[in-house]
Amino acid sequence: MKSKTLSNIAFRRHDHRRCQQFLLAEADQHCHSLNLRLTSRRRQVLEILLGSHQPMGAYDILAELNRVDRAERIAPPIVYRALDFLLQQGLIHRIESRNAFISCVQPGHQCAAQFLICRDCEQVAELETHEQELLAEADSLGFAVDHSIIEITGVCAQCQKDG
Ligand SMILES: [Zn+2]
Ligand SMILES: [Zn+2]
Ligand SMILES: [Zn+2]
Repeated sequence: MKSKTLSNIAFRRHDHRRCQQFLLAEADQHCHSLNLRLTSRRRQVLEILLGSHQPMGAYDILAELNRVDRAERIAPPIVYRALDFLLQQGLIHRIESRNAFISCVQPGHQCAAQFLICRDCEQVAELETHEQELLAEADSLGFAVDHSIIEITGVCAQCQKDG
């Protein structure tokens, strides 16, 4: 499985267990090659997000951590710190319109991500098409872009079929 083929995988029929294992291995590889520590807590948060292609809010992640790890009570800052690290490393993305997080399907990519969000199944697909034209137009206006968010909502093909 090549990571490139994983863009927009959320809306394609696939064996998610393989997808999950592959992405976790990619994340390990990414951190290893940059000499970064994917601590067990960070990895655990990533694994939770890799559970599906649906975004999760920080408090849902916290609840899940406390459900699987009963040894200690985990506080919100721990989750936020792990999320910050994963965001910085491009292993996850923030879905602004949902105030939630999703695992990246091309771990560590440098370019901005853009998403399709299904309002029925709540799955999010990361698109490969870049917003280069938009950015080029902004650039031609002399506009200095800080941040660009492209989140397109609608209904995925499967949900339309299921009616
Ligand atoms: Zn998958
Ligand atoms: Zn990504
Ligand atoms: Zn859907």
